Amino acid sequence: MRAAELRALLDQASYEYYILDRPTLSDAEYDRLFRELQGIERDHPELRTPDSPTQRVGSPAVSALPKHTHLTPMLSLGNAFSDDEVREWEERIVKIAGDEVRRAGYSAELKIDGAAISLRYDDGVLVVGATRGNGVIGEDVTANLRTVRDVPLRLRGTPPARVEIRGEIYYPFDLFERMNEERVRSGEPVFANPRNAAAGALRQLDPSITATRPLRFFGYTVVPAPGERLPFRTQGEVLAALKGWGVPVAPHHRHCATLEEVARWSHQIEHEVRATLNFAIDGGVLKVDDLALQDDLGVVGGRDPRWAIARKFAPDIAVTRLLDIRVNVGRTGALNPYAVLDPVEIGGTTVTYATLHNEDLVRAKDLRIGDMVQVKRAGEVIPQVIGPIPEQRTGEEREWRMPSTCPACGHTVVRDDEEVAWYCPNVSCEGRRLEGLVHFASRAAMDIRGLSDARMEQLVAAGFVRDVADLYALTVEQLLTLERFAQRSAEQLVEAIAASRAQPLSRLLFGLGIRHVGAGAAELLARHFGDLDHLMRATEADIAAVHGIGETIAHSVITWFAAPGARDLIERLRGHGLTFAEPQAPAASGALKGLTVVITGTLPTLSRQEASSRLEAAGARVTDSVSKKTSFLVAGEAAGSKLDKARALGVEVIDEAELLRRLEHPA
Ligand code: NAD
Repeated sequence: MRAAELRALLDQASYEYYILDRPTLSDAEYDRLFRELQGIERDHPELRTPDSPTQRVGSPAVSALPKHTHLTPMLSLGNAFSDDEVREWEERIVKIAGDEVRRAGYSAELKIDGAAISLRYDDGVLVVGATRGNGVIGEDVTANLRTVRDVPLRLRGTPPARVEIRGEIYYPFDLFERMNEERVRSGEPVFANPRNAAAGALRQLDPSITATRPLRFFGYTVVPAPGERLPFRTQGEVLAALKGWGVPVAPHHRHCATLEEVARWSHQIEHEVRATLNFAIDGGVLKVDDLALQDDLGVVGGRDPRWAIARKFAPDIAVTRLLDIRVNVGRTGALNPYAVLDPVEIGGTTVTYATLHNEDLVRAKDLRIGDMVQVKRAGEVIPQVIGPIPEQRTGEEREWRMPSTCPACGHTVVRDDEEVAWYCPNVSCEGRRLEGLVHFASRAAMDIRGLSDARMEQLVAAGFVRDVADLYALTVEQLLTLERFAQRSAEQLVEAIAASRAQPLSRLLFGLGIRHVGAGAAELLARHFGDLDHLMRATEADIAAVHGIGETIAHSVITWFAAPGARDLIERLRGHGLTFAEPQAPAASGALKGLTVVITGTLPTLSRQEASSRLEAAGARVTDSVSKKTSFLVAGEAAGSKLDKARALGVEVIDEAELLRRLEHPA
């Protein structure tokens, strides 16, 4: 019996997805099986059972958390996988509610791939926050939700006396990556994806654990108390009211008057916007904009509202076989393992390689050569292997180890104790050279237009370029001897290289590929020392004293300039007329002009460097130690002696949320 088999499969998948936060099926696979079951039940209604996954929302709440009954059920959504299916949906609802639907148009919103929650506010004050659970009863996670900085504890303005606000809790991509790296370092298992990490953090029994996870929130609807009505006519008004009450609303929502507009919006979100977002979406949600019509349309089978539909996008995750793990040498000598995959199509592109970051992550994910793996390609980002599907192992899979010698030059590799990376210490390693040159020319460094990876390879292969200074000696005549260069393209490249001489010191420093010196550190150094000669004359202690730099970077900078050939390279660059100076920032005129600020502890969402640069951009001076002159201290998690000192001196102490507020709305 296929129907019974599908029900069992889908039930098990839902349990793993909603309760264990550890899915074993991809969403696309789940959706395919779900549709198959819907099809069977439509053709043979006698096979439908009341407990079929097609009749239910989510999964029952089974944790030790207290239960909460929602004011009105929290529903799921029907799916449309193409513009044609959206059209069929419109035809269905027009049959029920008439042409009015078309006149009202649609509210098109991002479908956030997080965990659904409801927030109950009495007289504008948060009283209960709960997960969706089975739609009727969820888990009371109020204490956890209070730690989410986006969830207002009190609504602004004058909201109705009793409302439930619904939305999605999500985990931003960048912070998710950072958390997984930290978990690897401390030997904890990594999370498969931000959705599961968000759902897991939300359902912790100990709110102090939730507080360490930088969860965020977007609201999308308001539900009145039974018997009451809301003063809104359209979904557009609802979103505007939410914003007015201080509830964050996901960007890129818009009113679409016609299905053509809906289609244009969906395609733009899927193909252009999705790649730029720092959170996961799995589609768009289209809602009949008029709330009275929504009421008329009602709900299908107790599960999906008729007036809304999820316009799902092509999955950005696929399953394929991991054929091999190889290692490539990065510009700083770091050895990066990468996956060689059985080619698989994801979102219209064939993916053959994916990054594996470092050896520890391969271990933590327990990846073995021969495994079936889940691969994700998010926008422009390099594809990533999420993890293996251990259930599909045959026993033929092999464990992998980092090679003990550099695959490019054969030198013995070493491992930095403090780090997870192995690296090749040979500064003239062939493998490092090409990567280093490509990095130097890249957009974030010297930004040399038209110098693609392939062209750089050509230049190196021809023997014209061995180090970055050689680039500035290239001639049009030399380039014309190479394949794929014509007079015009050769001239353009030489001009682009010459133009890059004017790049500021910060970009040059970043471009040189000094270990640990990323774009942020390069900027701090450049701004502090002003020109390269000052930096080269500085001692290790001078460099370590720069705010935001520290000993590891200082040591690395000193080592780099002391290495054989480094000074010579710098003199050759000088000879080619490169700018060795950093333009001075214009006199501070920002909102926090003249204030002296100290940061301590780990902030929930901003890195130290981000917080410093935002403060500096607003005109404040960021220093390292608290004194009577300190205007205020920004304190995060695990703040220590600086916090004590600030309190002793009576210096004002604020948290990140207040800092962000001051940056936006100065007192
Ligand atoms: P859903 O996630 O497809 O859609 C409903 C949810 O969308 C709502 O709960 C709501 O919180 C959310 N949403 C996000 N943005 C919204 C917006 N702007 N407006 C309204 N709602 C918005 O449905 P579901 O019932 O939560 O879950 C079913 C889906 O979950 C499946 O289609 C599948 O993709 C996935 N799933 C996967 C597995 C698996 O094993 N991989 C198992 C179960 C479910």
